[in-house]
Amino acid sequence: MANEIFIIKERCTGCGSCVKVCPVNCISMTDRAKEEGVRWKKLAVIDVNTCVFCNACVEDCDRLFNKTKEKMPNPDFFHAIVMKKEKVEVNIDTTAYKGVWCFAEQRHGQLMPTIFELLHVGKKLSLDLNEDLSAVVIGHDVTQYAQEIIEHGADKVYVIDHPIFEHFVDEVYTNALTDLIKQEKPNKLLMPASIIGRSFSSRVAIAAQTGITADATELSINPKTRMLHATRPSFGGNLMATILCEKHRPEMATVRPMSFQRAEKQSGRKGEVINVKVDLSKWNIRTKFVRYEAEKKEDIDITAAEKVVSGGRGLGKPEGFKLIEELAHTLGAAVGASRPTVDAGWIPYKHQIGLTGRTIRPKLYFACGISGQIQHLAGMSSAEVIVAINKDTECPMFKLATLSVEGDLYELIPLIIKEINKIKHK
Ligand SMILES: Cc1cc2nc3c(=O)[nH]c(=O)nc-3n(C[C@H](O)[C@H](O)[C@H](O)COP(=O)(O)OP(=O)(O)OC[C@H]3O[C@@H](n4cnc5c(N)ncnc54)[C@H](O)[C@@H]3O)c2cc1C
Repeated sequence: MANEIFIIKERCTGCGSCVKVCPVNCISMTDRAKEEGVRWKKLAVIDVNTCVFCNACVEDCDRLFNKTKEKMPNPDFFHAIVMKKEKVEVNIDTTAYKGVWCFAEQRHGQLMPTIFELLHVGKKLSLDLNEDLSAVVIGHDVTQYAQEIIEHGADKVYVIDHPIFEHFVDEVYTNALTDLIKQEKPNKLLMPASIIGRSFSSRVAIAAQTGITADATELSINPKTRMLHATRPSFGGNLMATILCEKHRPEMATVRPMSFQRAEKQSGRKGEVINVKVDLSKWNIRTKFVRYEAEKKEDIDITAAEKVVSGGRGLGKPEGFKLIEELAHTLGAAVGASRPTVDAGWIPYKHQIGLTGRTIRPKLYFACGISGQIQHLAGMSSAEVIVAINKDTECPMFKLATLSVEGDLYELIPLIIKEINKIKHK
């Protein structure tokens, strides 16, 4: 039986309350035909193709019914929306799933450092569960990375090595990882919330018939239920939501890069390397890799930079970024930005730091004309040293900063550049 939702016409007053509570705007009001003989003029209509069956409209209409019932014994209106939800039987023996897995991403033959962050948090989860910590690497000629991964804490490394995996293609990577999950039954699976991780983790979750929390920034194990508590910012960072996957395994999460420290290396650490055989013949592959075109890189990569100089709305004009670039150049730093400057088109999106931009963890962060709203802090608060330049001593960035400099950035930055150059040329 598919999900069903319908309106009992005789009970609908056309009040429009359900329209307001619907999160996907799938309810509208229509005029009733005169010949209907109902005392209400309007009627709610639900677009079932858009409806997500969240129950919000049903609850709202029932709330109005109960409120009316307090005043009259048995109202013959409201309580007008009926939903019948398909029951999905889940019969998974969750105890059969063991181990914490971390996906080791490689791009064009380069192991991405996100695996070391995943291994750091994965280790804690595996110790709390008293289960093994493993990693999976997919690519061509990638066995070479196994020892490095083991030395960062993995007990086992599953290597899926074949020329077909040389370049990332969603479909083949999904098939490879899903087959391995079905065969080995891991308990938890962490993947980086990178472009590649985000792209295929959701496909893997669907194919493995499980749930996934995207973009987690905190992870823990509930000691009683042994379930993964994956926490991520929601509603623009104003709320932290903890998401559980109760009945399906593995519990999956993509993890925001730079949210965790990197695991420490223990040279010579021993572990098991498992070469996984893939049977391509059973996959009906419909995607073909055509070519790779690298992005033109003129700037220092902001996510890898040890020093970042960022400009905010306090610059007042797009040309202000010339001064930010000058300071960045003097320090050998990358250029960052707050969202309003990106929205205004002063600087491209790739420079945006924050909740809806990049997360960084530099050694030095200069915040110039940035007030320090929570959404910006979400992307840079882990910086080791923060220097804030602002006219307003009450700005939140000053509360977080290691060094707060009060004044006009157009007067202060040229002085700072001059002083740095003096030191450099001594
Ligand atoms: C869902 C959502 C997601 C968001 N995501 C992000 C995000 O990823 N990144 C982000 O940055 N924001 C994000 N925002 C926006 C965020 O809420 C703030 O609006 C934004 O960070 C403010 O940017 P700002 O500090 O540059 O500007 P403002 O808050 O306007 O601050 C400008 C600062 O400059 C100072 N100033 C002015 N003139 C000078 C001067 N001449 N010299 C020195 N100081 C001066 C002012 O005193 C002020 O403190 C998001 C908001 C929402 C709702």
